[in-house]
Amino acid sequence: MSEKKFICTACGTSFPIRKNISRCPKCHEPLEVEEFFSTEICAEETSDIFKRYKNFFPFKSCSDTFSLGEGMTPLLSSPSLSKKLGVHNVFLKNETVNSTWSFKDRGTASALRHAVELGFHRIGTVSTGNMAASVAAFGARANLETTILVKEDLPIEKLNPIAIYNARVVKVYGDYSLLYEESLRLGEKYGIYFMNSDVPFRVEGSKTIAFEICEQTKFNVPDVVIVPTSAGGNIRGIEKGFREFYKSGLIPHMPLIVAAQAEGCAPIVEAYKKNANSIERFPSPHTIAHAIENPFPPSGNQVLRVLSRQKGVAVAVPEKEILQAQRELAGTGLFVQPASAVSLAAIPILIERGIVTSNQQVACILTGSGLKYTAAFEAHKLTSEDVNIDSLEDCVRV
Ligand SMILES: *Cc1c(COP(=O)(O)O)cnc(C)c1O
Ligand SMILES: [Zn+2]
Repeated sequence: MSEKKFICTACGTSFPIRKNISRCPKCHEPLEVEEFFSTEICAEETSDIFKRYKNFFPFKSCSDTFSLGEGMTPLLSSPSLSKKLGVHNVFLKNETVNSTWSFKDRGTASALRHAVELGFHRIGTVSTGNMAASVAAFGARANLETTILVKEDLPIEKLNPIAIYNARVVKVYGDYSLLYEESLRLGEKYGIYFMNSDVPFRVEGSKTIAFEICEQTKFNVPDVVIVPTSAGGNIRGIEKGFREFYKSGLIPHMPLIVAAQAEGCAPIVEAYKKNANSIERFPSPHTIAHAIENPFPPSGNQVLRVLSRQKGVAVAVPEKEILQAQRELAGTGLFVQPASAVSLAAIPILIERGIVTSNQQVACILTGSGLKYTAAFEAHKLTSEDVNIDSLEDCVRV
């Protein structure tokens, strides 16, 4: 591993990168890997993101045996949504085509490489959804003992898609909000690399979303990038990716970064509105956008710092608009989960506030697949028709 360091995002203290630490012992804020600079974008012409963007990662080896083909997802331009919303261009970054159907695979693959280089044989995470499945899958791929800590009441239809990968799934009874910290403590004690939502190397993995967008737009980066935000790891990674390319002189400007949350759970937006520099726990969270329902995001304060440094924006989207955006995306051929639709739903709000203008290009990060959250079907009141075969001709003629 190259001689980069972890830097505390709040106090700037540095720590050795060859250690599994994710938060500053002094101020308890998240750590970040020091910035990488290179004028060589592609170290290798390959779709393996860790080989391709090798100059922006500290890894010594980039063994294929840890890859499940993560990343290199399509960036689609949507003329119909652009027209409907009245903006120059709407780009859709389709993260649903990752191996476990969400962007989480990028961060898991990255944290896995860090874990293996540090000599860990055990990995784990705390999650009930996309991250749990992702870590379980990569644990299976790398043949590591994998422990997934879930909430006591996780329904069987959510538990099975994790357990299928042969991971050890542990339902933990008690206060779920304590589990993030408790897992890090036990991980350190017993040699388990807990790759939770916003650990520094998960954030590094998300950088590749930005790198790909730069390449896919031939370095004419979009004016605005909207990221559905929960723990804050993904938006931190995307911002860092653009920042590293910008400081390397590879792109002409930074895009405006937007953190999009659901109104039913918007701790970062609430703090942003008050101009506060720390978040508060969001009371009684409730939203259909389940994957972004974290009432007390561990990287919340750092997201506020990033938005303030980059003049970024945080917006909250009402439930009705989330479902409508999910339907609109399906209407263009992309079935995403409600959490992902929040990015599209944010556009009209940003236009209304004058933040997005009609001549701009806007990229929405479609974070995960609709099939991961079939409970949303009920809200759409979908229909089908019945017909007897004798009347089929009459039925299809019209
Ligand atoms: C995890 C997740 C998010 C939120 O990402 P954070 O890094 O927690 O902010 C958004 N959408 C989907 C589908 C997710 O799985
Ligand atoms: Zn610190």
